[in-house]
Amino acid sequence: MVSVKRLFTDAMHLFFPHNCLGCGSDVLPGKSLLCLHCISTLPYTGYEGIENNPVENIFRGRTHVASAASTFYFAKSHVIQTLIHQLKYKANLEVGEYLGALAGKMLLNSGRFSNLDYLVPLPLSAEKEFRRGFNQSEVICRGISTTMGVPVLRNNVIRHRYTDTQTKKHRAERWENVEGSFAVKNPTTLQGKNVLLIDDVITTGATLEACTQCMLASVPGISVSLATIATASK
Ligand SMILES: [Zn+2]
Repeated sequence: MVSVKRLFTDAMHLFFPHNCLGCGSDVLPGKSLLCLHCISTLPYTGYEGIENNPVENIFRGRTHVASAASTFYFAKSHVIQTLIHQLKYKANLEVGEYLGALAGKMLLNSGRFSNLDYLVPLPLSAEKEFRRGFNQSEVICRGISTTMGVPVLRNNVIRHRYTDTQTKKHRAERWENVEGSFAVKNPTTLQGKNVLLIDDVITTGATLEACTQCMLASVPGISVSLATIATASK
């Protein structure tokens, strides 16, 4: 006998064909979002296992991070760019959780990101989160949490104002722009804890730096590590 659940799944497949998000192939292993070929070409950095990797070096002399890593290289027209675009601009939250789960697996296996108490998503301002409908970093955190088994701490580290024009300014101005825009609502929750701050892509690192500075300045005994899905740094 065919179950109702099976019928429903088949019907869903008919109306929402399940194709690889990288190349469009309809031969997919299980519920995977990518075909085996696209999975095999994912540009892993391996940074999580390397001390003084290029992502950690971004913060050298700027702020103190315990460990930092990005799971994938970010390159134009590569599958990773497509997936992050799907997450941020097409609201495909499943993609964010999928990428998070892959990143979490790498972070866990590296052994350099153990003893974490909380995953903290890089906050968006309330206005920006309202407009987008979600915080992509929080979606990624949910995926990381499934493979690392570390809880996500939401709405404790917050962001005050929208700094959309920051990308148009050079670095010195941008620092002034984001500095002071983060806040920790309840520092006691984070006191003495090891947290992993999460974002989707790292470019200059200015925003992650500002958020890290804010946590270090507001919370006694906190240790901050950073992880992003992708980086342009080699
Ligand atoms: Zn594919």
